[in-house]
Amino acid sequence: MAVSLNIDPNNSVRSGGMVDGAGRHDLVGLDRGELLQRFEGLGLSVREARMRTRQLWNWIYVNGVTDFDKMTNISKAARTQFGEHFVLKRPETVSEQVSSDGTRKWLFRFVDPSNPQSLPVDVETVYIPEPGRGTLCLSSQVGCTLNCSFCHTGTQMLVRNLTAGEILGQILAARDKLGDFPGGNRPTDGMVPGREIRAITNIVMMGMGEPLYNFDNVKKALLIASDGDGISLSRRRITLSTSGVVPKIGPTGDEIGVMLAISLHAVRDDLRNELVPINKKWPLEVLLDACRNYPGLSNARRITFEYVMLKGVNDTDADARELVRLLANIPAKINLIPFNPWPGSPFQCSDWERIETFADIVNRAGYASPVRTPRGRDIFAACGQLKSESERSPKKHVRT
Ligand code: SAH
Ligand code: SF4
Repeated sequence: MAVSLNIDPNNSVRSGGMVDGAGRHDLVGLDRGELLQRFEGLGLSVREARMRTRQLWNWIYVNGVTDFDKMTNISKAARTQFGEHFVLKRPETVSEQVSSDGTRKWLFRFVDPSNPQSLPVDVETVYIPEPGRGTLCLSSQVGCTLNCSFCHTGTQMLVRNLTAGEILGQILAARDKLGDFPGGNRPTDGMVPGREIRAITNIVMMGMGEPLYNFDNVKKALLIASDGDGISLSRRRITLSTSGVVPKIGPTGDEIGVMLAISLHAVRDDLRNELVPINKKWPLEVLLDACRNYPGLSNARRITFEYVMLKGVNDTDADARELVRLLANIPAKINLIPFNPWPGSPFQCSDWERIETFADIVNRAGYASPVRTPRGRDIFAACGQLKSESERSPKKHVRT
């Protein structure tokens, strides 16, 4: 059974914005160069600004501190000055739900940094604990411009891209809640790993939105998340999933260097055009070419191909054999995802026997454990079930 908690609904401090009501700038999501500039802007010498950048980076990302007064290696005068000009924000937590399988889903609220007067937006972030690891699934956009026919997020129009600070804000807020910063309290429900490992060991960009349509902000956030002096998540433990924005696949490898997942879902263009309509722009051949050329690709760094199992649509033995054939010369993993239903969804999940037979064919071709166990279905936290109530303001027409 799902447990639903409503947390601090009146909390007025909202994260992800560059400026708060008092005109203070949020430092979360700024890279080192930008932090340096901010400190120089306060009149600090280059030397001091560099030192403060190093110190703040550590306080923000290693220790998760949001209160300048807790930064004990910074003089009282400097802390006061920082508190007057800057903030270290977190999103408002609208709700937290905990699934019977330990999966947690948060609804986080942000305001548009370029327009603090605009309506706040809500995004969903999911935490999936497993033995020996914990994966955080991040959203990159509010809604999505694409409308893959099996995906709940696809029914929500794009409201806007999330900023780098908002993408990182999801990680920092989740680390707060999971007691993942030094001195933090781990939830005691036995689901979250104990202190011997970090609660969050992996990140997947598989929440709301198409991350490669928000490339610059996703890049900035992931470079900060993988920075060895900060959150320090190895790039090999970060996976970015795309529906197939081909021109951005090469830059993802070159400039971000994370693991890649491709939402394939069909092995013929006619069907993929229907399921993942971006295929009309970049069809299978072009997509698979971009995959073959993915920078850093090797047998140790494979691309994951996601394939949602839709009853009577894409789940025949012939589909399985064609899948294996298509991927034959690409270092690949195959991830079969049982379709997760949502209200009004036009598909059904393939029967379990069909999934097993399909998986057998994939298995015999040398792909190990290809079926992804659905997690958090009881709280609508599973793949493709995320959606928020946020809507575009009628005056704004944001489409990329
Ligand atoms: N926009 C990106 C990342 C978010 S979706 C992308 O499309 O890749 C994360 C994964 O969940 C994708 O593989 C997506 O195709 C899959 N998915 C979407 N809806 C689903 C559903 N209802 N059931 C199972 N998987 C789904
Ligand atoms: Fe957007 Fe991905 Fe959902 Fe397609 S599957 S609508 S790209 S979030």
